Amino acid sequence: MRIAVLDPRVCNPAKCTRECQRFCPPQRMGDEVVVFEQKKDAQPRIVEILCSGCGICTRKCPFGALRIINLADELETDTSHRYGPNSFKLFRLPIPAPGSVTGLVGANGTGKSTALQILALQLRPNLGNFEEPPEWSEIIRHYRGSGLQPYFEKASQGELTVAYKPQIITSIPEVYKGSIQSLLEATDERGLLSTLTDQLELQGIMQRDISVLSGGELQRVAIAAVMARDADVYLIDEPTSYLDVYQRVRTARAIRSLALEGKMVISVVHDLAVADYISDYVCIFYGEPGVYGIVSNPHGVREGINIYLNGFLPDSNVRFRSEEIRFDTRPPSEEYWTSVEVLLEYEAMMKKFDDFTLQVMPGQIHQGEVIGVLGANGIGKTTFVRLLAQDLEPDEGAIPETDVKVSYKPQYLKAESDRTVIEALQEAGGASVLTSLFRSDVIRPLSLDKLEDRVVNELSGGELQRLAIAVCLARSADLYLFDEPSAFLDIEQRLAVAKVIRSAVHDKGKAAFVVEHDMVTISAFADTISVFTGTPGANGLCQAPVDLRLGMNTFLQDMGVTFRRDHATGRPRVNKEGSRLDREQKQRGEYYYISTEGE
Ligand code: ADP
Ligand code: ADP
Ligand code: MG
Repeated sequence: MRIAVLDPRVCNPAKCTRECQRFCPPQRMGDEVVVFEQKKDAQPRIVEILCSGCGICTRKCPFGALRIINLADELETDTSHRYGPNSFKLFRLPIPAPGSVTGLVGANGTGKSTALQILALQLRPNLGNFEEPPEWSEIIRHYRGSGLQPYFEKASQGELTVAYKPQIITSIPEVYKGSIQSLLEATDERGLLSTLTDQLELQGIMQRDISVLSGGELQRVAIAAVMARDADVYLIDEPTSYLDVYQRVRTARAIRSLALEGKMVISVVHDLAVADYISDYVCIFYGEPGVYGIVSNPHGVREGINIYLNGFLPDSNVRFRSEEIRFDTRPPSEEYWTSVEVLLEYEAMMKKFDDFTLQVMPGQIHQGEVIGVLGANGIGKTTFVRLLAQDLEPDEGAIPETDVKVSYKPQYLKAESDRTVIEALQEAGGASVLTSLFRSDVIRPLSLDKLEDRVVNELSGGELQRLAIAVCLARSADLYLFDEPSAFLDIEQRLAVAKVIRSAVHDKGKAAFVVEHDMVTISAFADTISVFTGTPGANGLCQAPVDLRLGMNTFLQDMGVTFRRDHATGRPRVNKEGSRLDREQKQRGEYYYISTEGE
């Protein structure tokens, strides 16, 4: 089977000479493989059954707008949806199971939201036939024998009620007006308002208008509104965006409680520690982002996430990533850092805003050190990073005069520029961004090579984030500051960013601060941890960086959450609250277990 996908955002017939058509071998033999309508600047349509799969068009297209993929023919009958000709194709679907949470993990662009929209009955699966979409009866027949048969049977008779939280929540205030209280009262079909307010910590904002909420507040309100509905199925697309670790754990607990009531729950999660904690089963999405996606069978949560990290699906005998992802369980100790040269030393500092005060304890940054910054939302992390970047002046204390050069990636990114990606990189790093070293260390691992000619203000959130990280690294600097670099990125990209930052700093005499809420990602890059304590929105205390184990311990103790290590992959796993390990580790004061022995 052949899949030909055209990216309509990139294809630009006004500026090419139809290379896709001119160089196509079967077309030159007289077959109508690449069809252009008789319209000015019409985009081509590739007739897949006539295409030989040689891939010449993909290389000749000056914009890289075409992708041709050859797949096993057996997959054809597993097609669950195609948006239209030469567009994304989804194979198989996750199967909801009553009384359990199924987590969906995988790269962006592999169809997770598409699958969720299908299960949310917002999109009727067309089984690949977009010209004559099938009736429910045919769809039900297609999924005969699986849990999807009764699911779609009930759906077709209007007997299935679904509650759905979309991935993008920023448009909610355009649809709903008024206070949080009135919004949640209107959706409270199960009489759970006070429980949910409590679980998701919304007490303080109930009287506020929805239009003034921060991202993290809006996320929790959206989750509460969905959980309040009386439905058979709860579909929750990316509940962790904008939330800090503490809020992620509380939200995950709340969502899990739905399964305990016997509901079907499916959730897309990009934070692996949360995916692990929230799910009973995991379905892995793999394929070629933007071209096709395949949904794996459900696996038990531990096995499923390990399969995902290994990049190999044993039950289908498919390798979907060339290398496995492993976690270093032996980060450098406190003693190690005392033997390393200090790059920058800062004094105790204080910064006061009208309602908020940040105290910074004195600290040292060493050459080759990647420091993870952990703390609640609104506790002063961004303020601290801006002090280091000398973007803000402290009211007391100072960063000493030094020739250490700083490069800073802000938390909130703007995409006003109408330059291309490669121009933006060149502006930051000059000719160095064109070297093969920068390409292999930064551009390729961040998958920016395919975006080079795209215009910056047309990038998606995740694309813009990866560009901003590369721009920060392109500047000549000694100290890099990254404020929440994993926002809008999928798991794969987060771990790629972790690797890129480590290799830019280690053995090069440089250093980095990285503000991060994803515990698996932070454990993939941090040598040391700087913990923030205090009261969000009122006062924050930034502690000096300490080794990973101590820093994680301090932070997790504050949160009352314990982590163990998976013995196969070394990844950190959240202990279920009150489990034997949870109780034992709390008793020993070992909230973050480094060694994998004894699991
Ligand atoms: P994920 O949630 O895994 O990031 P999505 O399901 O959102 O993936 O998208 C998968 C692919 O489908 C993307 O390449 C996207 O561009 C494409 N796609 C999504 N919606 C449409 C649509 N309405 N028409 C055509 N293509 C679409
Ligand atoms: P974090 O990055 O940890 O979420 P921030 O450093 O952004 O926290 O903010 C900490 C607190 O300081 C918040 O309550 C925020 O509203 C307040 N704050 C940040 N910048 C300013 C400013 N320029 N003026 C007044 N208050 C501010
Ligand atoms: Mg911040």
